This record gives sequence, structure tokens and C-alpha cells, in this order.
Amino acid sequence: APEKEKNSSVAKIKVVVRKRPLNKKEQAKNEEDIITIQGHSNSLTVHETKLKVDLTEYVEKHEFVFDAVLNEEVSNDEVYHETVEPIVPIIFQRTKATCFAYGQTGSGKTYTMKPLPLKASRDILRMMHHTYRNQGFQLFVSFFEIYGGKLFDLLNDRKKLCMREDGKQQVCIVGLQEYRVSDVETIKDLIDKGNATRSTGTTGANEESSRSHAILQLAIKRSVDGHDSKPPRVVGKLSFIDLAGSERGADTTDNDKQTRMEGAEINKSLLALKECIRALDNDQGHIPFRGSKLTEVLRDSFVGDSRTVMISCISPNAGSCEHTLNTLRYADRVK
Ligand code: ADP
Ligand code: MG
Repeated sequence: APEKEKNSSVAKIKVVVRKRPLNKKEQAKNEEDIITIQGHSNSLTVHETKLKVDLTEYVEKHEFVFDAVLNEEVSNDEVYHETVEPIVPIIFQRTKATCFAYGQTGSGKTYTMKPLPLKASRDILRMMHHTYRNQGFQLFVSFFEIYGGKLFDLLNDRKKLCMREDGKQQVCIVGLQEYRVSDVETIKDLIDKGNATRSTGTTGANEESSRSHAILQLAIKRSVDGHDSKPPRVVGKLSFIDLAGSERGADTTDNDKQTRMEGAEINKSLLALKECIRALDNDQGHIPFRGSKLTEVLRDSFVGDSRTVMISCISPNAGSCEHTLNTLRYADRVK
């Protein structure tokens, strides 16, 4: 069928790396930029400084190749063009797609992720008004977070939510607020509201957001022909996931019990995520989504013809070398 052909032209899994610029603090400390990216290539090199047994320094080079590598000069518009823009049209063809931002705290996940749903909904609304004019499509937005394995509604005062499966591989989050939207301004307000709710969290500390996964979903629905009284059915879904700081998964030896438990949960979810994406890529029948709350929630986006974009964010400074290598190795396994 022509629809299938259209869909297959968009890669099932795309792994993109984005490097942020050195920040003021790093510059003030004269920190070295250890990441080199050759022009418009899809490879990058990490220059790791190591010590020999006699304590003299030497540099070990690590080269990685991905679907795309974006340097510190690349704008958010270009990131959108490279990652989400190609998947927007196939959302109208009964496809589910997910875009993840992965990386250590401070590597640019939120900076990268925040504008993407807005740009995507702009394109979705445009398609609804032109390509699919008068065909009954509607756009819905929801925004929630997973913190310590629990779900909270970011558009409804962090109300606690629970998840249910309907037996048909569809995930239902009970009580989640979904807003029907028809203009970009409203969407922007909702995104800002959700992000504010997230970062202020319970303590007001920015720390909080690094321990939660934020999930913004755009759902395209369509009313069943001639049945305006029936609720519209989901056609496609696009999920944007600003993952918890990848270094938090290592907090499993912290003195604080709460921190340890949260660390273990984050570690579990990032491992489960990697396994699910790999299973999806290999067309494996069995997707190990039960491994964590994150993958359970995304269950219906890990089946059949779905698409995944992983944006791995990295910091350029020498002090982040170990975390950067961990991020790139994770991305390498997903690819
Ligand atoms: P994370 O969400 O991964 O913890 P942030 O997105 O909050 O990281 O980014 C940390 C800081 O770096 C922020 O002040 C952000 O504005 C800045 N930043 C991140 N990526 C870029 C970039 N590509 N260009 C300019 N500034 C950036
Ligand atoms: Mg963040």
C-alpha cells in the first residue's frame, strides 16, 4: 500500500548526538573542549586525557559514528529539521513515534527538547488545515512526569496518576488531563505551564527535574464518521521525552535512602528503554517493556510500525569526559 511505502522511507530508529557549547563557568575555569566534530560529518571524536603508571599524561581518542552529529553551532530549528520534522507526516498514517533526549544533567536535554513539541504542533496544525482539511482530525496535548516510578500530571498541579492497560496493547493513564488544541499560542502556554510545574516541583530546586522523566504527548484523533457523539479515536501519537539525568542512574550507593531508590529506578528505566529500542529495531516479537514504569507507559509506542529518535546530548568540557563517554556508549548500543 502507498501508505506503507511512505512510512518506510523514514528510518525506524535514528540516533543523533548534539554537543552544547562550553558555558561561562567552564570557560572561566579554562576548561578544554574535548569533542571534535569534522564539519558536516556524522562522526565525532572524544579526546580523553589519561595517566600512565609513571603519572605522565597521554590522550586516548574515542571515535563514534551516528546517524547525525550536531555541533555547538547548530540551532534548535536545525535540530527539529534533523529529528522530528520527517516523522510528523507519518503520524497521520496511524504511526506512533517517540523522541527522547538522553544525557547527563546540564548537557542540554531540556534546551533541546523544549521547542520540539511546539514546532511539531505548528506543522501538525498546518497539515490539518491544508493536506487534511475537513477530515475531522483533532490535536490533543498531555504532559506528565515519572518520578520515583510514579506518574504526575504536569498540567494538573502534579496530580498523581495511575496506568491501566486495556488488553489491546493500548495504554491508558487514568485521570490524565488532555487538552484539545487548535492554535499554537495555547500549546505554547501549556508547554510553559508543564515545564514550570516540573522544575519547581516539590522543593523548588532545579535538582528535581534531573530525577524525573518528563513526557509530553501530542495525539492526533479523528471522530468516527457520522458518529459525532462518540469520542474521537487516536490515529497517531508523537511523544517527547526529556529523560532523567543519565548520571542519576549511578546514585545507587548514595548515603540517602530516597536518593538510592530513585537512582535505582532511573537506572532500571534507562536500561529497559535501551532494551526496548533494540528489540524494536530487531523486529523482535517480544518487547521487554515491563522492565520499568517508563517503558510500560510507552508500551504502545514500542510496537509494530513505530518510530524512535534518540537525541543524545553531550557536554564538551574535560570534566564531563566520563559521563560523555557513557552517554555515547549508550547511544551506540541503541543505534
Ligand atoms: P539538562 O536539561 O540536560 O540538564 P539544560 O537543557 O538545562 O540541561 O542545559 C543546561 C544549560 O546549558 C542551560 O542554561 C541551557 O540554556 C544551556 N544550553 C544547553 N544546550 C545549549 C546549546 N546547544 N546552546 C546554548 N546553550 C545551551
Ligand atoms: Mg533538564
